[in-house]
Amino acid sequence: MTTIAFIGLGNMGSPMAANLVKAGHAVRGYDVSVPAQENARAGHVPIVASFAEAVAGAEVVITMLPAGRHVLAVWSELVPLAKAGMLLIDCSTIDVESARKVHVMAADRKCLVLDAPVSGGVAGAKAATLTIMTGGSDEAFAAAEPVLAHMAKKVVHCGGAGAGQAAKICNNMMLGISMIGVAEAFVLAEKLGLSHQALFDVASASSGQCWSLTSYCPVPGLVPTSPANNGYKPGFAASLMLKDLRLAQEAAQGAGAVTPLGAEAAQLYALFAASGGDQSDFSGIIRFLRGRGAE
Ligand code: NAD
Repeated sequence: MTTIAFIGLGNMGSPMAANLVKAGHAVRGYDVSVPAQENARAGHVPIVASFAEAVAGAEVVITMLPAGRHVLAVWSELVPLAKAGMLLIDCSTIDVESARKVHVMAADRKCLVLDAPVSGGVAGAKAATLTIMTGGSDEAFAAAEPVLAHMAKKVVHCGGAGAGQAAKICNNMMLGISMIGVAEAFVLAEKLGLSHQALFDVASASSGQCWSLTSYCPVPGLVPTSPANNGYKPGFAASLMLKDLRLAQEAAQGAGAVTPLGAEAAQLYALFAASGGDQSDFSGIIRFLRGRGAE
């Protein structure tokens, strides 16, 4: 049994912490939001009154927060409290630069540090079937893997500081682009009088095949797991896809990478979100591509 402080008990953090409780760990949950605390408590996550109380005596601290600025703020309180040998893991999706900064902040505390963003959404967090991509030393990964395994179906060590965040935004840039590609192909097929079924049968067995088509098809009735079957209820909300595409663009600019389709995907998701699609599943962008308001 490990004593784990879990900071940030929102849509993702609450079920992730609940899975650590189920696995037999001594979890101390903390969130600034009272409704988030109550929700986590209802999921059997023990809640403590303060951040300091959560961290005191913990062997592992996990943060699951909205964005880089929240992580930097929380870690600037966390690092001075951290004891040598403590394992500090940030599971939030944040910019690569902030992720690298938190590794540096903790460097002289003799702690083990890992950036460990997740993929799989709220459903994956509840079912403990997330994919977790990590960046940090071999020693930090070896210490973290058994803990992360209680929340995930796969845990990958991607490299040094920031490599987990880099893998996350590269994957999601690919996903945003491929979803738009699949959606555009269905919109063109509709104009050409080709049935959804015919395009699916051909492309799913041809070179157009990809996850956006065969696991998450943006038109209803072809794939059982598609949010399209459910009125585009997320799933993975368009607002979160937009966040990740913007992080990818920020990283591309910082690193001097040329990503024109990533830039275009970010623009299209920004327009889709601004037109009322932000809380829709990201595959709902097909409705925007057909023309605003069209079904
Ligand atoms: P959320 O907004 O539901 O939860 C974040 C929680 O952090 C909130 O409850 C908030 O009160 C808390 N918080 C903020 N500042 C705090 C502080 N100083 N101290 C303690 N708690 C604080 O967000 P979420 O959907 O759980 O996502 C968390 C992270 O996971 C984000 O970075 C997101 O991009 C990423 N992510 C989300 C999904 C998803 O489908 N929701 C999927 C993959 C990754």
